[in-house]
Amino acid sequence: MLFRKKEELGKWGFVDINGKPICEFIYDDVRDFSEGIAAVKIGDKWGYINEQGDEICEIRYDAVGDFQSKLGVVEKEGKKCYLNTSGEEVAVTNFMGEEMVFEGCKSCAIGDHTITNLPGGYLYENEFINVTIDPEIPIRGFIVIGIKKHVDTTTKLTKDERMAIEEITNKVKLALEQLGARNILLFEDGFSEHYRRWIIPSDDWMFQFGRGKNLKQITTYARKNMSLEEKKDFLRFADRVKQILNSN
Ligand SMILES: [Zn+2]
Repeated sequence: MLFRKKEELGKWGFVDINGKPICEFIYDDVRDFSEGIAAVKIGDKWGYINEQGDEICEIRYDAVGDFQSKLGVVEKEGKKCYLNTSGEEVAVTNFMGEEMVFEGCKSCAIGDHTITNLPGGYLYENEFINVTIDPEIPIRGFIVIGIKKHVDTTTKLTKDERMAIEEITNKVKLALEQLGARNILLFEDGFSEHYRRWIIPSDDWMFQFGRGKNLKQITTYARKNMSLEEKKDFLRFADRVKQILNSN
């Protein structure tokens, strides 16, 4: 914990590890930092400050959530939306350009079907696992294995649950190989509060970024450069994966 909540004369603020204030003590309530952003309250309104102690937005929301995946959900006059780390109101859109509406953890929202417009839908699902394509990043065969348990690491799962993840991973890889994929990359998202596993078949265009070592560059490139035709092709590809996963 880099910063600590502290009360002075009935008002709240934060101090760093040396006890030095990082902001003025003007808040009626504050919450712990999450992803470098903390919720702060003045009167009955909420906003956020960053680790420099600067308010990233006006303190004007009726309710705010803690930041997750670089977004904070905020509520104003009964309406909810998201703020990014610069304090701008944003919508989370899928790669077909449609807004995805959910609150809190995106992986939980996928698990419980709160998000109703996942591109490609659910390729496979059981009581513990859901298999989808990444809703925001258009890459051919980019498969996400999600779990319906809000834990940040597989070490918090049972052995059976870990085995189930391995088993479905193998099925997905077999399906991808059957459809011609080679050099399949596996990633675990260890930075998210909700564990997920990514399976990405490498593609020629990725090699400009060093054989899949630079995932951030690869996903940024895909978001910027994939055409509508390519995205539709990825949806058809996902459908073929789905057929194979559900055929045996
Ligand atoms: Zn979750």
